[in-house]
Amino acid sequence: MTNSLTNLKTIKELLFRHGFVFSKRLGQNFLVNPAVCPRMAELADIDGADVLEIGPGIGVLTVELAKRAARVLSIEIDAKLLPVLEDTLAPYPNVTVHHGDVLRPDLPNILREYLGESPMRLSVCANLPYYITSPILMYLLESRLPFESITVLVQKEAAQRMCAPMGTRECGAITAAVRYFAEPELLFTVSPGSFYPQPKVESAVMRLKIRKEPPVKAADEAAFFRVIRAAFAQRRKTVLNSISAGLELPKDVVAAALAAAGIASNARAEQLTLEEFARISL
Ligand code: SAM
Repeated sequence: MTNSLTNLKTIKELLFRHGFVFSKRLGQNFLVNPAVCPRMAELADIDGADVLEIGPGIGVLTVELAKRAARVLSIEIDAKLLPVLEDTLAPYPNVTVHHGDVLRPDLPNILREYLGESPMRLSVCANLPYYITSPILMYLLESRLPFESITVLVQKEAAQRMCAPMGTRECGAITAAVRYFAEPELLFTVSPGSFYPQPKVESAVMRLKIRKEPPVKAADEAAFFRVIRAAFAQRRKTVLNSISAGLELPKDVVAAALAAAGIASNARAEQLTLEEFARISL
């Protein structure tokens, strides 16, 4: 069955019928390029798995997920889209739409309510609202919910940063956090013309394969992330200066911790590996 939800005329008629008006604030750019959703759903490797989707919009990706997955749970914040989704997802009984904000801390309970205590296989696939890409991804990663993978469409710069290897100029605190929890891979880019309305920026699909174990052992995980955030907060400065400023610690304390970890105090955050960050004990 072809996905008519990429047809601009169908979309306009549908949204007019439901009196829907786009909200820029909620990052509402709907996919209209018919090639993107099937490709995303295929690369998400969700055959027979349960899938969490964030922000179904009018359901263009949801339909592709429903064709492949066992069950799909889609969380949509905009109440105005619920009657639209009731309409477009009627042929897919394996989809449940939950009205709410994905960043609400009760996501584990919502998943339990719809998918049961321990779903066999669970993954995330979504075209994310760009204004909260990092908070959503960090929330999903830190939740330690049993996701196999997270396949998402995000702004291209965000995907490049999150998929950059450690030790390169593109990496930032988010790169380190993503690599700690997952193995990231940039899959393909998506042009602004693939959306309605068109965003100003290029987009890209990336897949995070969730690690069973972190690649490094940090004695204190919260402290490890605090050091990483401080080190990258002023990335032009040396790690000695940025960590001491960010954590409000005397320079000699930070210098001693760097020396004990075998890190040159004039190194910059972007030159450090995850292992080196894990060795800094502060
Ligand atoms: N999946 C659709 C598509 O690809 O055409 C829509 C994607 S659109 C970029 C982002 C969607 O996320 C919108 O439907 C928007 O209303 C929804 N959204 C925004 N903030 C949200 C939040 N905090 N929780 C859940 N959904 C949210």
